[in-house]
Amino acid sequence: MNTKEIVDKLHELDQSSSELEIQESDRAALIKLVTDYSNEFIAGLNDRNVFFERRPGSLEIGGNKKTMSELLDIYRKEVAETGINAASGKHLGYIPGGGIFAAALADFIAAFTNPYAGVYYASPGAAGIENEVIRWLKKIFSFPESSVGNLTSGGSVSALIAFTAARDKYQVKNESVRKSVVYITEQAHHSARKALRIIGLEDVIIRYVPMDDHHRMKTGELDELVQRDKTAGLNPFLVIGSAGTTDTGAVDPLDGIADIAGKHNLWFHADAAYGGFFILTSKRELFMGIERADSIIVDPHKGMFIPYGVGAVLIRDKASVLYSHQYAANYMQDAAAEELIQSPSNLSPELTKHFRGLRVWLPLQIHGIEPFISCLEEKLLLVKYFRNRLGELGFRLGPEPDLSVSYFWYPFETDQDEKNRQLMKEIHADGDVFLSSSVIDGRFVIRIAILAFRTKKASIDRALEMIKRCLEKIR
Ligand SMILES: *Cc1c(COP(=O)(O)O)cnc(C)c1O
Repeated sequence: MNTKEIVDKLHELDQSSSELEIQESDRAALIKLVTDYSNEFIAGLNDRNVFFERRPGSLEIGGNKKTMSELLDIYRKEVAETGINAASGKHLGYIPGGGIFAAALADFIAAFTNPYAGVYYASPGAAGIENEVIRWLKKIFSFPESSVGNLTSGGSVSALIAFTAARDKYQVKNESVRKSVVYITEQAHHSARKALRIIGLEDVIIRYVPMDDHHRMKTGELDELVQRDKTAGLNPFLVIGSAGTTDTGAVDPLDGIADIAGKHNLWFHADAAYGGFFILTSKRELFMGIERADSIIVDPHKGMFIPYGVGAVLIRDKASVLYSHQYAANYMQDAAAEELIQSPSNLSPELTKHFRGLRVWLPLQIHGIEPFISCLEEKLLLVKYFRNRLGELGFRLGPEPDLSVSYFWYPFETDQDEKNRQLMKEIHADGDVFLSSSVIDGRFVIRIAILAFRTKKASIDRALEMIKRCLEKIR
């Protein structure tokens, strides 16, 4: 091609490629459509069902171009009205979160400015915001200044980073894998075992430490198990304590676990993905000892009600994280390490990353921390209120939870499991409020997990009304 041909071709291509730069006047109209939809969506949350047992229709890409109005219609019907509405205060299943609006605005800003948050040099400001959120988290958990951290997509990836650091610090590889031992309880989240499999530790020995009546790890038993394994010539290296279990809302005795981890030189990982932010509440003392952990994971997309896609990991020993994620780190001087840890990409499998720091930083700057703490205190009280009222209706309750997850069942005279399973089905078919189920100590139970920021007393009253209504159908 000669220069003239190139220029002509560029001119022709420009007609089409420039469509990606939406013009200012059109942008305003598009933003208005989206804003209107957000208002309609949020205003309708209480009236709309929270659960739809419907599969989406066509979501196909291709064919005719569509307008934003048409796309919002598709979204309304095929996304917002299928499955669980996780933005609703009536979402009381699994671990709810919410999706505060300030974080949505932060995502919008992060997306159109698109700074490169993975590398300090590329965007000192964006990496700086990521690092400031980590610094703030370290302060909450009284973790040392010298520790490091990373904002991840969620608890599962946080665990991956933490366990990889543990693996590398303890040199668990090749022939030593089968002799190495990890200690957890039956209530530990399944993502922990999944992370071990992914990082090549599928064949480690997993010891399930017995629990007390409140589903908390018995530290005396942990001590004995580790002792026995050491005597047998095995290599105990990792203990996972839960700061808030998903099924039972229990906090393991973290202080006791820290003692035993210290005594036997184990890596102590605290899974605070769900429960971590309750350290800011009246439940603070339950978290004693978490500051002695080697790694902590905590999910802002749960206990800070940020939209899905932001977790965090904190790790005491910076060298072990750099070893796995920064190739040159182990023979770098400290001064260089200080520079390395300014870049999130040196502490994570991700190089290019979503600028997630902004969706945590901006809401904290807009609201301050108080409303977040009030929200968490409110959830703790709501679970007590729910349990009191449910007891009055004749339900059996699991033990008093440490945090905001609990479970219950109805003592039907015959076929108890089967009838509670039917009750769960009725609740899902009803769809006004969403609850989920589990099997605990061999019994089918219905779970309530209160964490969404929009869950209020009125939502719990509606849950109780719905449960009564569904129970009538079975009795
Ligand atoms: C949710 C959760 C995880 C997993 O986190 P994701 O953000 O879903 O990947 C791990 N542990 C606990 C206790 C959890 O509640």
